[in-house]
Amino acid sequence: MKELLSLNNVEKTFFSDEGETKVIDNLSFKVFENEVVSLIGPSGCGKSTILNLIAKLENLNKGNIITNCEIGYMFQKDNLLPWLTVYKNIMLGLEIKKRKSKESEDYTFSLLKKYGLSKFASYYPEELSGGMRQRVSLIRTLSLKPKLLLLDEPFSALDSQTRLFVQEDVKSIILEEKLSSLLVTHDISEAIALSERVLILSPRPLKIKKELKLSYDNSLLPSLRRKDNSFSQYFNDVFNTLHY
Ligand code: ADP
Ligand code: MG
Repeated sequence: MKELLSLNNVEKTFFSDEGETKVIDNLSFKVFENEVVSLIGPSGCGKSTILNLIAKLENLNKGNIITNCEIGYMFQKDNLLPWLTVYKNIMLGLEIKKRKSKESEDYTFSLLKKYGLSKFASYYPEELSGGMRQRVSLIRTLSLKPKLLLLDEPFSALDSQTRLFVQEDVKSIILEEKLSSLLVTHDISEAIALSERVLILSPRPLKIKKELKLSYDNSLLPSLRRKDNSFSQYFNDVFNTLHY
């Protein structure tokens, strides 16, 4: 299996007038091709900081991070600009990265069609449901042809019904496009429904308390996993590790 991401003995401390805060202490893990890995941990433990370090939005203090592929980053909020249409919002990713070309535009338009968004191309974000906006945001991320998706609590702003549909949608797209993903969440069911491995994190300074390998086949969608007997066992396992 090809290694897409490797964190090696990573340490991160924030310095401010009030002093220093060590957020991450000696963290190591890998993400391989065609797998979804979840990071689950309490609020404020440093999950978003990990993604920011990987995306090089923050610098680390010790250790190193090796990435072997194009990376796409999708945030909690959809970050769509309200004054641009769906089409223009999606093309914005290419423009910002200065990768707009006939070929990249054609590819992006083919994604729009494939994922049922072409009829909404001239809509504005406020005319779409929360789930559809997340889909637009994901397609914008995919236009840059990433192999590894960094997802920071992408479902947390959605109501609980919509969340289930969008989880199913995102996992299907990850499978269809043969992507890997590092998914940050504080929702136990979400981690088990979507990923192949769950890294359970401690409060600050963040460490991996336990790594849980799930026995599901990669291609098993969240709705079917939830019906499996093992689901509640995994849930209890993650819950107990997080809280004790
Ligand atoms: P999580 O995503 O797990 O909720 P974060 O990674 O956002 O946690 O934050 C972890 C800790 O680091 C928090 O205590 C937060 O206040 C602190 N932190 C995050 N970013 C910065 C920053 N730019 N400067 C100072 N402290 C920060
Ligand atoms: Mg966060």
